Amino acid sequence: MQKLKPYRFCPVCSTKFEKKKVGLEQDIRNVCPKCDYVMYVNSSPTSNAVILNSENELLLTKRAIKPAIGKWDFAGGFLNNNENPVDGLKREIKEELGVDCTVGDFVNVHVSLFPSLWREAALNMYYYVKLKKGKIIAMSDVAEVRWFSVNEIKESMMSYAGNWKIVQQVKKSLRGR
Ligand SMILES: [Zn+2]
Repeated sequence: MQKLKPYRFCPVCSTKFEKKKVGLEQDIRNVCPKCDYVMYVNSSPTSNAVILNSENELLLTKRAIKPAIGKWDFAGGFLNNNENPVDGLKREIKEELGVDCTVGDFVNVHVSLFPSLWREAALNMYYYVKLKKGKIIAMSDVAEVRWFSVNEIKESMMSYAGNWKIVQQVKKSLRGR
């Protein structure tokens, strides 16, 4: 994991941050001395699709871009500001797979470090998703789309620890059926 670069300047007015204690907790944060902007750093939310076919195979997408290029992922991605996770997931599925979908039950949430310089971590939410009729095409940041039997998915193939936890959860739930 590369070392994260600290934030140094106010994103509103470009003044150099000062370290100050803020709020009831008196946590030390980056504060702008000119416009009082306080830099809160949070995990970035993503919405992700757990898609099973009638043979209980899992649909995974191969990453076409860094980080974790060439590793397998669940379809989905980062939410836009003020975007509902279900709406964001429908948007991502259309962008990545070229088909519409219906979003079903919530599966789980996992937090993973995201190895880039400007995002500290991703907060990944997972939903069961059913694809509507149509041809699945790998698009956007997806290089390839494939159905996997859950037993052939190995930890080393997966992009992030959270995704592997979801594979294990799905496997367990299929055994219980
Ligand atoms: Zn400022």
